[in-house]
Parts: sequence; C-alpha cells; structure tokens
Amino acid sequence: MTSEFPPPTAHSAPSGAGVDLTSRTALVTGGGSGIGKACATALAAAGATVHVVDRDADSAKEVAAGIGGEAHVVDLADPAAIGTLPTEVDILVNNAGLQHVAPLTEFPPERFALIQQVMVTAPFLLMRRSLPHMYAQGWGRLINISSVHGLRASAYKSAYVTAKHALEGLSKVAALEGAAHGVTSNCINPGYVRTPLVENQIRDQAAAHGISPDDVLTDVLLTRSPIKRLLEAEEVAAAALWLCADHSSYITGTSLPLDGGWGAS
Ligand code: NAD
Repeated sequence: MTSEFPPPTAHSAPSGAGVDLTSRTALVTGGGSGIGKACATALAAAGATVHVVDRDADSAKEVAAGIGGEAHVVDLADPAAIGTLPTEVDILVNNAGLQHVAPLTEFPPERFALIQQVMVTAPFLLMRRSLPHMYAQGWGRLINISSVHGLRASAYKSAYVTAKHALEGLSKVAALEGAAHGVTSNCINPGYVRTPLVENQIRDQAAAHGISPDDVLTDVLLTRSPIKRLLEAEEVAAAALWLCADHSSYITGTSLPLDGGWGAS
C-alpha cells in the first residue's frame, strides 16, 4: 500500500505534501516573515491563492511576488484597515504577533493593549469577516498560530501569555460554532522556532551572558525542551497544511503542540 504522504524530513519545505488546495483561497497574517512566510509558501505550493497580510510593505510584497499571491500592507492593530481585507477566504491563518519582555510591575500598559489588539482582536475580526463565506460553502479552516505560551506561562511575558491563552479560547469557540458548517478551528503551539525574532534573541543573550550562541540555545532557551534544537518555520507550516487536508476534517477545537517534548516535562 502506498502512503498518501512522503516520509517527513525535519528540515525540508513542504511542497503540497499530498494536500490539494487548488480551488482554495488563504489569508495569512504576518505573512512577510518567519512562520507566516513559511505558511504562505506551503499553502501556495499546495495550490492555494494566498493573500499575504503584513504591516511591513517590502516583505509582504516580496513574499507575495515569490508565491504568485497578493500583498496587503495592513497594520492589524487598526480595525478600519482590517475592514479593507478580502472576506472570501477559505483558509485563515492567524499568525501575526509580537513580543515584549518586562516584569508585570514595569510592563507598559499601551504595549499590553497593542499585543491584545494584534494577537486577539485582529484574529476575532478576521474570523468574523471570513466565517460567513466559509459557512455559505460548507468548508473552512481557521488555523491559529498560538505557542507553548498558549498552554503555559513564563515570567515577564504577561501580555504575550495573556494573548495566546485568549487565542486558545477564541479558537475553541470558533470550533463549536463552525462545526455544523464544515469549518474547523485549531491552534498550533510551537516551542522556539528559528525566525528572525528568535535569532536576534539568541545573539542578544549570548552577548549579555558572555556565552556562545550554541550555549544560549541549550542552557537558556531550550532548558525545558528534551529535543535540543530549534523548530523550523517549515515544520510549523507543514502542520498548518496538514490541518487543511480533508483527512483532518474531524480535528477541531484542539491545540497541537510542536514543542520537542517541552509539555511532557
Ligand atoms: P516574525 O517577527 O518573524 O514575523 C511576524 C510578522 O508579523 C512580521 O512580518 C511582522 O511585520 C508582522 N506583524 C507584527 N505586527 C503586525 C501588525 N500590527 N500588523 C501586521 N503585521 C504585523 O515572528 P515569527 O517568529 O514568525 O512569529 C509568528 C507567530 O508565531 C507569532 O504569533 C508568534 O507569537 C508565534 N510563535 C513564534 C515562536 C518563535 O519561536 N518564533 C514560537 C511560538 C509561537
């Protein structure tokens, strides 16, 4: 018996992976960089038409041009700007995010509010806009890029942990409401992923602690992960693509940890 899927290779980019999305339209927020770029690329490789949404004009346009998609330069903190985005979307990937690290007593309230706006309110508004189209056709996929921090906390990340836990709740409500309409909603929960965000963090920590980047990885970032390597953005994208397949239509309201065993410890 032949398998529908090629055997997984940890670092290879997915190229459709047996999932046919040729008639589908996807919208990926934060599609200009890191995980969003990998998701946009994987969905396009599976045949989807992809709307790449990012506030960074150059990267949104570069990614869209590379995959034959359409760039939308939008600040997701601005509800009016979200109102300009397409509504005929079959696959919505809520991915855009940002981090701020500070103790609660010093956390800037405006930064806390911004993080909720981009990482909770924007996904809500985008679901609200795209669900009528998904319901009308009886098929849809909501893929919410959460984090290990959607399931557990770390000190000094109050806004991020709050937002990711809220996204988990939103995703579950969408799963309940969408079930009768062929719409699934799931979270993906990565550990540390090799993106510009994390690579900068490694460089800064190496300088701050006077240790090598490799030691930052094993002794600082990956202390709680039994697998001592960063996750690749393409591996997150492969999970997102898998959730779009028809064989995943019974999977909804879940959180899929890609955490190298962190949660088992
Ligand atoms: P990244 O910084 O590489 O990319 C984030 C993208 O979002 C950027 O292109 C940025 O311009 C865009 N963006 C940020 N704020 C925006 C706004 N207001 N409007 C429009 N676009 C905006 O980050 P990444 O590491 O790829 O992270 C993507 C998602 O994955 C985030 O939600 C993050 O929380 C989550 N995540 C990342 C990691 C990790 O280790 N990198 C781990 C778990 C979860």
